[in-house]
Amino acid sequence: MSDCLFCKILDGDIPADIVFESDTAMAFRDINPQAPTHVLIIPRQHISTINDISAADQSLVGSLFTAAREIAAKEGLSDDGYRVVMNCNEAAGQTVFHIHLHLLGGRSFDWPPG
Ligand code: 5GP
Ligand code: ZN
Repeated sequence: MSDCLFCKILDGDIPADIVFESDTAMAFRDINPQAPTHVLIIPRQHISTINDISAADQSLVGSLFTAAREIAAKEGLSDDGYRVVMNCNEAAGQTVFHIHLHLLGGRSFDWPPG
């Protein structure tokens, strides 16, 4: 999608601090980190929200979680723990409409979230 910020990052048109790449996914550090580690994991395929995920995307979406596991291990977060979140639409706080997992770690997190 030409007007999508994360598609522009995927195309290299906007720079990002990339920490992971695979055939199906890519991950980079959040520009406004909310924790010592705050990485965004996105599919290479443009999907706007969780509402737009189809059954055919199951393996693609699953690959975001295996990426999260790998990145968390690389960042030294596996044992202490970390949080993985995907927001859907405005009420949940989604601001970029290309699905992404937030991988947050390096501090403690409250539950329930605000
Ligand atoms: P959302 O609010 O949609 O769940 O998350 C969007 C995230 O993208 C936010 O945490 C925001 O800080 C991050 N973000 C917005 N613009 C950019 C950018 O240009 N580069 C990077 N690396 N992150 C961005
Ligand atoms: Zn996109």
